[in-house]
Amino acid sequence: GVKPLIAGNWKMHGTLAEAAALAGAVRDGAGGLPADLLVCPTFLHVAQVAATLAGSAVAVGGQDCHPAAKGAHTGDVAAPMLKDAGAGFVILGHSERRTDHAETDAAVRAKAEAAAAAGLVPIVCVGETEAERLAGRAEAVVERQLAESLPDGFAGIIAYEPVWAIGTGRTPTEADIAAIHGTIRARLAARFGAAGQGMRILYGGSMKPGNAKAILALPNVDGGLVGGASLVAEDFLAIARAA
Ligand code: 13P
Repeated sequence: GVKPLIAGNWKMHGTLAEAAALAGAVRDGAGGLPADLLVCPTFLHVAQVAATLAGSAVAVGGQDCHPAAKGAHTGDVAAPMLKDAGAGFVILGHSERRTDHAETDAAVRAKAEAAAAAGLVPIVCVGETEAERLAGRAEAVVERQLAESLPDGFAGIIAYEPVWAIGTGRTPTEADIAAIHGTIRARLAARFGAAGQGMRILYGGSMKPGNAKAILALPNVDGGLVGGASLVAEDFLAIARAA
């Protein structure tokens, strides 16, 4: 299948100097890996990290973008600005943004359209809460998020991140990950045809060097979206070696 992608979501961490040092350490370890690498620093660090990674195989992404290309939107960042700063990707609809900023599926869809228009590859996040999983609704929630968060003609990446697995040290069973990734693949193939068959589906949520190999070997798991472990270059690279 498709070459795996290991993406680091650095969230709201670090100084500019720490981000540059982390990017440099990832770059220096990136040779000969079985996966593509991406790091997603906070907006303020994107340009510096892109400069550090220029000419390397490690790509840079943002963690959000506004649905408009420009305008009077104080505090927001437009997709063309991310592109101009050196980003090639953007994470959209992360559960922390859906929670902290009340982002709806419709908002995520508009952002995905803006990202594509700016030449960025959108990484659209989906995933159920613990209450939804306990109620047996995980697959239905994810199917709704896919149906409503992805624009027609979507050409990007999906990240399945169960909310209850983020930063908790807990992960679904391998069987549960395989089942929901299989459901996601079926929905993508039904809607986007061959493009959906080849679309990367990343797993995210407490991915570590110790569990990466087993998770990344599952069918329809085409990489990982890594939070905490991506802040330590050695751990992030170890996950990439396991792909
Ligand atoms: P953790 O790897 O810290 O659980 O975070 C996952 C995540 O939210 C990546 O976007």
